[in-house]
Amino acid sequence: MARAARAKINASAMTLGIYIQVPFCQTKCTYCNFHTGVVSAEKYAPYAAAVQTEISHHRKFYADAGISSPKFENEVVDTVYFGGGTPSLLDPSHLHGILEAIRDSFACEWKEVTLEADPETITSEKAAAWAAAGINRVSFGVQSFNDLELKSSGRMHRREDVYRAAPILRAAGIRNLSFDLIVGLPHQTPQSWRNSLEELIALRPEHVSIYMLEVDEGSRLGRELISLGTKYSAPAVPSDDQMADSYNLARQLLSSAGYEHYEISNWAQPGHASRHNLKYWRREPYLGFGAGAHSFHGATRWANAHDSAQYVAAIQSSKLPAEQIEAVSTQQAHEEEMFLGLRQLAGINLDGFDPSYAARLNEKLLSLESAGLVERQGSIVRLAPEKLSISNEVFVELLG
Ligand code: SF4
Repeated sequence: MARAARAKINASAMTLGIYIQVPFCQTKCTYCNFHTGVVSAEKYAPYAAAVQTEISHHRKFYADAGISSPKFENEVVDTVYFGGGTPSLLDPSHLHGILEAIRDSFACEWKEVTLEADPETITSEKAAAWAAAGINRVSFGVQSFNDLELKSSGRMHRREDVYRAAPILRAAGIRNLSFDLIVGLPHQTPQSWRNSLEELIALRPEHVSIYMLEVDEGSRLGRELISLGTKYSAPAVPSDDQMADSYNLARQLLSSAGYEHYEISNWAQPGHASRHNLKYWRREPYLGFGAGAHSFHGATRWANAHDSAQYVAAIQSSKLPAEQIEAVSTQQAHEEEMFLGLRQLAGINLDGFDPSYAARLNEKLLSLESAGLVERQGSIVRLAPEKLSISNEVFVELLG
């Protein structure tokens, strides 16, 4: 079955994205609210082997777990995304093995194969091996070009690591780079933020993601901000107003530098929007493999158990540790379409919704429009660009 899949590509095929979750990190950043852990490097090989097994036997796993078996014969995998966590910690042979398992199990025409990487983990040898395995895009967790901000957030890398790593990747033939920055790290000032943006722009990554610091119980810094502690530099976190100004400065400088703002947190040079992430926002099908990975296909969503040891043990005993298998109702599908559509700067087309949902949405949109939070052009509705930093208010209102 497997080898035949390499050759069989139907001309009218739909595309499919594949996400691989690697939930391991070298240390835990203070602001991180992801399900990731610091484990011994000995755990990496069994984990990679379990992911390969899950990919190779996905049909049987889905059938046994009661996931209404999607038919993949007419789907071609065009994007693969290794996220985490820090997937660049895995040995390149593990990444290669996982990519081979995908090639063997699905029809593939890869356009974009992304690896999330931390700058300090990059060497010439690794970069060459990644390129040889088919990885053609690297997403860097830069977060800041200011060493005080990096250090106080518990990051392992420093500013100079970014300058060291980017040329190594380009020399290895990986020409599509994405850099992440975070608005709101402790000790960030308007000037240090401007410097980070200017340094990023000077390096000309093809893609940029800018995230706002999330304050919740899921991270050490978030808990400290809520409890007014001091150990993780919570008192040095910028105010909400400063963060909104920082986000708006990013919009302005990136736009002047020729980047297209295509999603609330994402900018790209023309032609470099993330093909894989667009699938999430467009509700196109994707399969996730690994601990905590989410999948969406047609009208079903499901996710694997977060705990990596539990995941490996389950796969080794031929059981998919799927925890949340959910049939997406029509109402949920509309809400997702509205929410994910509005995250994109192109907005949503009300004519694309069923009339009764569009009428209800329309009523809520009227007050948001008069408050200047959304804009309308015929049936197209989008968030007002200058109010994007408070987009959560719009979503709370629309989903309420
Ligand atoms: S590297 Fe990323 S996933 Fe890992 S702890 Fe830091 S923020 Fe979390």
